Amino acid sequence: MWQAEVRVDLDAISANVARLRSGTRAAVMAVVKGDGYGHGMVPAARAALAGGATWLGVCTLDEALGLRRSGITSPVLAWLLAPGLPLHEGVANDIDLSAASLGQLDEMITAGQQAQRPTRVHLKIDTGLSRGGATADDWPALVEAAAKAQADGAIEIVGIWSHFVYADAPGHETIDRQLDAFRDALAVAERLGVRPQLRHIANSAATLTRPDAHFDLVRPGIAVYGLSPIPGETFGLRPAMTARARIMLTKRVPAGTGVSYGHTYTTDRETTLAVVPLGYADGVPRHASNVGPVAIDGVRHTIAGRVCMDQVVLDVGDQPVAPGDVATLFGPGDNGGPTADDWAAAIDTINYEIVTRFGSTRVPRVYD
Ligand code: PLP
Repeated sequence: MWQAEVRVDLDAISANVARLRSGTRAAVMAVVKGDGYGHGMVPAARAALAGGATWLGVCTLDEALGLRRSGITSPVLAWLLAPGLPLHEGVANDIDLSAASLGQLDEMITAGQQAQRPTRVHLKIDTGLSRGGATADDWPALVEAAAKAQADGAIEIVGIWSHFVYADAPGHETIDRQLDAFRDALAVAERLGVRPQLRHIANSAATLTRPDAHFDLVRPGIAVYGLSPIPGETFGLRPAMTARARIMLTKRVPAGTGVSYGHTYTTDRETTLAVVPLGYADGVPRHASNVGPVAIDGVRHTIAGRVCMDQVVLDVGDQPVAPGDVATLFGPGDNGGPTADDWAAAIDTINYEIVTRFGSTRVPRVYD
């Protein structure tokens, strides 16, 4: 008997990747960072590969090494690398690394020497996000140094890449501006004799809405998990995650009963309260206090009072609810149940944050 669980529909992940693949000639890199957006990095990666992804994308070297330790052999790119990491372990494990500065490139050259094989590098250009990536001013020097290192056999320049600011707002002026900046960076590289196999910039939103941004490889994340990067559209994707728990206790209480810490909710009639054993330690945002939707048997309720560390309370009125009944926080939205999008709307965040919060908590993940 289970108490609370996160169910992950791996077939949905495979189907979502197949759906993304069918819309592009580019290779698909499934982004599985952040514990596979909360779905479990390794199972999500395997399901994405089964659906036709040929690359995996992660942030950290540890995530990339975790994929290798699990026996996954597909190409992997890791792009968030602080100074001083044992990059040679990445090189020895065939992990592609992103470089955005001369300092990072130097570390990658050293890593290649240590591992006694060229480091596979993707050079990152900042086209407007002002996050990772070299500025346009620093770009020629980075490409030149990389070209020299490649000629020396220390690295192999596999890719040139960037990331969108606002692809989730189709038609936003930054999209064309970033594409122009990306093409300019590619042209600069070409003039310096660098023509990589892989040019990539598209996240889920650009994969779904901007075929002209696909280049050689697309890097969808959220769409792999069946969630739309653009609120209000579904793109035929299937949400993979369901978070649910069994009601622990029910009790009949009179009108005027204060509920949960701080009594921020008070019953306005005689009613039934139902206690659900999931709280903020499990991934339920505390901001969902008094607004998070939960369904029991297709009937939606709103969390009554504050989200606690381990539990929430529902005011279910006269619905006949008994201990052991299933309360669904979010899922594919069938049978009247809330979705991660509903949760995101309720607490003014994005669906990404809702599912990612359920990664690696004490709630068991169950794979369908
Ligand atoms: N590429 C990079 C560099 C990212 O950081 C991310 C995620 O934030 C993605 C691709 C995937 O983005 P999305 O989940 O919007 O598809």
